[in-house]
Amino acid sequence: MLTFAAGPSKVYESVPKYLQEGYEQGIMSANHRSDRFMRLYQETESLMKEKLHMPQDYKLLFTSSATENWEIISQSIIESASYHIYSGSFGAKWIKFARHIIPESEELKIQAHEEIDVPGLDISEDFDLIAITQNETSNASQVAMEKLEEIRDKYPEKLIAVDTTSSMAGIELNFELADIWYSSVQKCFGLPAGLGILILSPRAIAKAEDKGESGRYNSLSFMLKNAAGFQTHYTPNVLGIYLLNRVLKDLPEIQHVDSSLRNRMKKLEDCIVGSKSLRLLVDNAATRSTTVLGVTGLEETITKVKSEAMDQGFQLGNGYGPLKPTSFRIANFPAITDEEINSLIDFLIKH
Ligand SMILES: *Cc1c(COP(=O)(O)O)cnc(C)c1O
Repeated sequence: MLTFAAGPSKVYESVPKYLQEGYEQGIMSANHRSDRFMRLYQETESLMKEKLHMPQDYKLLFTSSATENWEIISQSIIESASYHIYSGSFGAKWIKFARHIIPESEELKIQAHEEIDVPGLDISEDFDLIAITQNETSNASQVAMEKLEEIRDKYPEKLIAVDTTSSMAGIELNFELADIWYSSVQKCFGLPAGLGILILSPRAIAKAEDKGESGRYNSLSFMLKNAAGFQTHYTPNVLGIYLLNRVLKDLPEIQHVDSSLRNRMKKLEDCIVGSKSLRLLVDNAATRSTTVLGVTGLEETITKVKSEAMDQGFQLGNGYGPLKPTSFRIANFPAITDEEINSLIDFLIKH
């Protein structure tokens, strides 16, 4: 069975080999205070800079998940409150977590096909951080880097935090446009779940130091103190970090990944546009994701296509939340090969 689910998603075919090698090299029992672990952390951070173009002065931290990062941001960085701009279920979850910690957190909910109207934004002094779900996995929409740049230009004094859980390692991000970037490895990184990635700008680090929140197991001050020496605040998912390291070594530089995913997505979209019974979930090219395709249709059509796909050995991703009965999603992640996407197109073209 080949899965096109948008997370957990297909892992790189090299993963079994790296698991075996990791085992043989003793990585599964490696101590996280050892030189060996510190070198692994340091090298992985360098690879994130080399392959994903993370800036030299940004810091890579390891957490458990994107969900944990939601809490860390409100707990350890925000002084007043966050302002969330989102269109779908993951953005909605983020503000729900934020409000548990800071009830004054505010939201602007837009539609999946709607571009953020930056000139029309009115975010007051009461908010010191703008939260953006850059790739909304639930409804297959995406916020373009140009939009982030407009927001940055309009609010240079506010921090910007970006959820790139299903786009980091699949698209070229301009990290300079925001201060906090995070992801989980079970999406575009093509790895098994269980490792979160949190990337901070010098400004975000300074803000956390100013705030000085401490005492929790995941207080950022505690994490940063350990990370300064390439250690972690608890025994981390060393195997996950090792696999991340190996997969990053194989990854072409991100601009090449980005353009190949865009080309593939164009073919997938053309196939749906030409279909008699299926439609694109997001009808505005400017807000459509390049890593997750949303397809919609009548409930009985969606059910039928999903079940016929299953017979062919393809698992399509279910629609998410309220969109579950009337849509399915296709992950266009780098671990899925061009041949696999082509065989899916051959199947979809018949509908
Ligand atoms: C998957 C996903 C999350 C949650 O990731 P976890 O690793 O399960 O915490 C958050 N945001 C987006 C956009 C996602 O796609």
